[in-house]
Order: sequence, then structure tokens, then C-alpha cells
Amino acid sequence: MAKCEVCGKGVAFGIKVSHSHRRSNRMWKPNIKRVRAIVNGEHKKVYVCTRCLRSGKVERNYGSAAPVAAEAIVAAE
Ligand SMILES: [Zn+2]
Repeated sequence: MAKCEVCGKGVAFGIKVSHSHRRSNRMWKPNIKRVRAIVNGEHKKVYVCTRCLRSGKVERNYGSAAPVAAEAIVAAE
């Protein structure tokens, strides 16, 4: 389930080693966030890892409500 829709990064497996060197299997999950992004010109909820968010691999339209509101005010006048 935990998978980035941009880079395909998923869970990784390894071994936890305690101080007494007892070994047990463990799993690392990627830091996945559900964000509202622009995909093919429309807003969609996508699951993206924080690394892709940081490097700007997803297009997010911040403050898109403000220009729409301004147009509505102009149209009302
Ligand atoms: Zn990613």
C-alpha cells in the first residue's frame, strides 16, 4: 500500500540487530503523503513520497482559490 505514485518507491526489508546480536526481520516504509496535485491538467489526490514533494516532481497549485475569488468579484461588479 505504501508506495509513491511518482517514483514507485515502496517498502524495503532488512534485519534488526539488537545489542546482543539477536536478529529479526524488519521493514522500512517510505514517508508517503496524500496530496492534492495537478495531474494531466486536473486536481487529483495522489500518494507521493516526501522526497518527490521536496524535489518538486509534482505540480501543486497553491492559492488557486484566490484568483478565482478575484474573478468572481470582478464579475459581480
Ligand atoms: Zn517518490
